[in-house]
Amino acid sequence: MAISVRIKELHASLPQGVTLVAVSKFHPVESLKEAYEAGQRIFGESRVQELVVKHEALPKDIEWQMIGHLQTNKVRQIVPFVSLIQSVDSVRLAECINREAERIGRVVDILLEIHVAQEESKTGWKYPELVTFLQDEGFKSLKNIRVRGVMGMATNTDDEAVIRADFEQLAKHYNELKPLFGEAFDTLSMGMSDDYELAIECGSTMVRIGSSIFGDRIY
Ligand SMILES: *Cc1c(COP(=O)(O)O)cnc(C)c1O
Repeated sequence: MAISVRIKELHASLPQGVTLVAVSKFHPVESLKEAYEAGQRIFGESRVQELVVKHEALPKDIEWQMIGHLQTNKVRQIVPFVSLIQSVDSVRLAECINREAERIGRVVDILLEIHVAQEESKTGWKYPELVTFLQDEGFKSLKNIRVRGVMGMATNTDDEAVIRADFEQLAKHYNELKPLFGEAFDTLSMGMSDDYELAIECGSTMVRIGSSIFGDRIY
């Protein structure tokens, strides 16, 4: 199906209060343009180099989000323009983003990526370690990052009960953390092409949809 048709369908069908991030990794600039022309303004990428190149090539009213694993030595390249870094999963990375943001006088919005899936390979904080970090004075001194919420992924399985349990877990953590932060803590990013409807049922406020908009990725 055409990209523009899918974008319009999603804009029409997602409930109010659920933000669509079009995950455009591995897709060419022309495909992003088609989504842009259909009204999409928020794009998610998982690799720094691609994010930088696409940011330069496309209109300036796009909000660019980093959703993939981020190495500290690449943070400097995206901090000047990125609108949200969803994949913050270590103290070192949070400190690095803060430092780079301070250097250029910005406050960068981030999400805390939490690991709930069964696969060990998946990235993200283990929740108890995250809580320890958030209680630390070192965290409280990070003035150039603003925590907007939580991001996570469900286990890669066809078993809907497992996926639902993962999303419920993420929603629980989100609600537990919310009182530690102010008004700006308003984003629960969960749900991808195959499971976003379930994620929304479980309280998602931001879905990250790639293949069902742009087609299969060719790696
Ligand atoms: C690739 C990716 C997505 C999108 O996945 P689709 O199944 O193509 O919708 C969402 N979130 C993250 C973190 C990703 O890396």
